[in-house]
Amino acid sequence: MARKLAAGNWKMNGVKASLGEATALAEMFPAPKVDILLCPPATLVAPMAQALFGTQVHVGGQDCHMKTSGAHTGDISAEMLLDAGADHVILGHSERRADHGETDQMVAEKTVAATQAGLSPVVCVGETLAQREAGETLAVIRQQLSGSLPDVVDLKKLVIAYEPVWAIGTGKIPTLEQIAEVHDDMRATLVARYGDGAKDIPLLYGGSVKPSNAAEIFATSNVDGALVGGASLKAADFSGIVKAL
Ligand code: PGA
Repeated sequence: MARKLAAGNWKMNGVKASLGEATALAEMFPAPKVDILLCPPATLVAPMAQALFGTQVHVGGQDCHMKTSGAHTGDISAEMLLDAGADHVILGHSERRADHGETDQMVAEKTVAATQAGLSPVVCVGETLAQREAGETLAVIRQQLSGSLPDVVDLKKLVIAYEPVWAIGTGKIPTLEQIAEVHDDMRATLVARYGDGAKDIPLLYGGSVKPSNAAEIFATSNVDGALVGGASLKAADFSGIVKAL
């Protein structure tokens, strides 16, 4: 059985005062039955990890470089995230792919860097609306999974997030049948490539997950949790999603 994971992606939101939302969430779940993860902007990784020290809420980054150190102005390495107290990192989010030209190959290299540093990579894939309307969804997801993951990877650390680009921040979500179709296909694709160990890779759904739709999404085939943007910023909202999981 894959572990259950409720992951929050704060994106470029949050200042020091926002850490109160993280500690409030931790207080609501002193002994959670599922894994809870918050991925704040880089400036808040270390202070959030300090604020959450001793709690059951994990902290992650939103990106890392594929190299361990060197002349890469503005970037941070997987080791730096680990050093700051993170144990996960989101990789290949569609906003990174769109805003920073990240390719599948780059995401695969980052996935290697993250696992070598000891982080759990949350590798994101997802089709655009045009691709869905053209009937290309499964082909696109298979292609992204193939290119964004290295041939050798620590399956125990790997997490995959299916995030349709058109569902992110829009309030639109695929039908439950469409989510199940993609998640079942991702599971089969991963098991075909990596073997039975891939049955335990958590497969998250992301894109407009809210407390009101979380339960039905979590009841869907091969959905092991969620990657949540907007509804992860407030403990009151995110706690509803954690409870649904
Ligand atoms: P959303 O974002 O929940 O605000 O749609 C999800 C994501 O981009 O991870």
